[in-house]
Amino acid sequence: MNRDTCDKDGGARADAVRGDLPPLGADPGRTYRLGIMGGTFDPIHNGHLVAAEQAFDDLGLDVVVFMPAGRPAFKQDRHVSLGEHRYAMTLLATSDNPHFVASRFEVDRAGVTYTADTLRLLRDLYPDNVELYFITGADAVADIVSWRDAGTIARLATLVAATRPGYDLGRAERAIDRSPFGFDVIYLEVPALAISSSYLRARVAACQSLRYLTPDVVTGYIHKHALYGARPTRYGSLEDA
Ligand code: ATP
Ligand code: MG
Repeated sequence: MNRDTCDKDGGARADAVRGDLPPLGADPGRTYRLGIMGGTFDPIHNGHLVAAEQAFDDLGLDVVVFMPAGRPAFKQDRHVSLGEHRYAMTLLATSDNPHFVASRFEVDRAGVTYTADTLRLLRDLYPDNVELYFITGADAVADIVSWRDAGTIARLATLVAATRPGYDLGRAERAIDRSPFGFDVIYLEVPALAISSSYLRARVAACQSLRYLTPDVVTGYIHKHALYGARPTRYGSLEDA
């Protein structure tokens, strides 16, 4: 890095602090909308991508950042692939979309990943004219109200709950209504995509195709690194290192 350039421009230093996060908020005369798609992404699939794309369009977001969780708080009872693998697949899956960004923000943080901590850090990094939108599946909304520091989540971000046409929102709505924290929730109907990472992992283990469920580059990565019981390649895997 050219230190002269950095010193001339304080903004360059600020961007360096944010690592791979998109620089937003430069114009104080306007509001920016940052979408955050959190998840384990083990692996990322078209359900995640379609939901994020629709949130981008419908809510007029400036960018959606995909943040694979480091050690997800709710998945400590099962094997989760290395953060490096989940980040790499997320990067591959989002690389052809100019308004998607894959970030190492959570993967690089030690310990269990809590959404409230992530939002607090993001709030500190971005100026006040950047609004935070946390995109999640509608099923997860009912749980979020009881996540650690749920009040912080409610205070710092608008929840964007992706739902399917005809999906019964009763459980999510009841949980939001009962919560004392005043969550701001936007429900977003996404075309039916009843797929999940669990479903994809099961298909790989059963030697079934992932075509049209996740981008082909992700499928290639899964096979190359022998994830989820896929046939190993002769190069071995990161876990062997
Ligand atoms: P797993 O089956 O391992 O739980 P998952 O498919 O739910 O994986 P996650 O990484 O746990 O994927 O989910 C990240 C976020 O994406 C969550 O908020 C989840 O609710 C949401 N999500 C998952 N699948 C879909 C889908 N098909 N459509 C819209 N949102 C989804
Ligand atoms: Mg899930």
